Amino acid sequence: MDDCLFCKILSGEIPSKKIYEDEFTYAFFDISPQAKQHALVIPKQHVSGLSALDTMPDKEIAACLRACHAVAVQLGIAESGYRMVSNCGHDACQTVKHLHFHVIGGNPLSARMA
Ligand code: AMP
Ligand code: ZN
Repeated sequence: MDDCLFCKILSGEIPSKKIYEDEFTYAFFDISPQAKQHALVIPKQHVSGLSALDTMPDKEIAACLRACHAVAVQLGIAESGYRMVSNCGHDACQTVKHLHFHVIGGNPLSARMA
């Protein structure tokens, strides 16, 4: 998609610090980390967010979930614990309209979700 920040990251037009990649997903460090470790996992196919999941094949959805755990392993936080978050829509403060999963950890996180 022409005007999408994360599509530009996927094409290399905007630089990113890669953590993980497979056939369907790409993961990189968040530019503004909210914990000691903060990664973003995105599908290679443009999907606007969780509310558009019905346009995405199941195997690509599954690949995103598996990629989140692979990223946690790579960042060394799979054992200590981590959180996966996907903001959807205005009230959740979704700023980039390309489906993405935050993977955060590396320090104790708040028990509050909002
Ligand atoms: P959200 O607010 O859930 O839509 O998350 C978007 C995330 O993208 C935020 O955590 C931003 O810090 C992150 N972000 C924005 N631009 C970049 C970039 N160029 N490289 C890496 N992360 C970015
Ligand atoms: Zn996109």
